Amino acid sequence: MTAPVVALTATTKMIDGLPRVRLNDAYVHAVRAAGLVPLIVPPLEADAADSILGAVKGLVLTGGEDVDPALYDAERSERTHAPHDGRDRCEIALLRRAHELRMPTLAICRGIQVANVALGGTLVQDIPTECAGALEHDRADERAMRVHEIVVERDSVLARALGATRLDVNSSHHQALGRVADGIRVTARAPDRIVEGAEWAGDDWWMLGVQWHPEELVRDAADWDRGLFNAFARVVRGS
Ligand code: MN
Repeated sequence: MTAPVVALTATTKMIDGLPRVRLNDAYVHAVRAAGLVPLIVPPLEADAADSILGAVKGLVLTGGEDVDPALYDAERSERTHAPHDGRDRCEIALLRRAHELRMPTLAICRGIQVANVALGGTLVQDIPTECAGALEHDRADERAMRVHEIVVERDSVLARALGATRLDVNSSHHQALGRVADGIRVTARAPDRIVEGAEWAGDDWWMLGVQWHPEELVRDAADWDRGLFNAFARVVRGS
């Protein structure tokens, strides 16, 4: 059987004086290890979303920049980074089109935030300044280290994919879900109540979001994060 192709969103960044399309290689390896072929998609105009999704069987929204708070009707806090308008527009259009098509979608880190905003939710713009007593979630220096626990709701797509309801994850984010969009169910939280996992509540769409970086943990001894990508691959193959 031919391996199905899935879209992985990328960003653009100035590197060595030139604007370049960029994605961490860890996503490519994690998707490939699950038996899928990744197709890397740069930020494009919103009207390209239909063409992109017409060429693939699944969508992976990857990590990256803070989403522009104007997209959830908030003033930009001084702690929120400058937005990448082109990437925001492209990924919101992709997520909404994937919702219309009921295309399997895995949303990682910034991805879970894009999904929530695209469907009408809001974000916490900066955990340390807005959530008193929260854990340190911005451990970008330790990308592949499991630095805090999460508790996953039983009877969720996430729990079935991970094969566990309690596990430790890495953490490289300073923002988090705020008001959760209609249709989305929160299925994992850190001990400080920060949302670490969310999914489409109905059984008509496989859309799973995680706040941590499972792509950095698929070489780990524990099966949890490989399980996440394998669950995505199974639904992609079945669709
Ligand atoms: Mn975290």
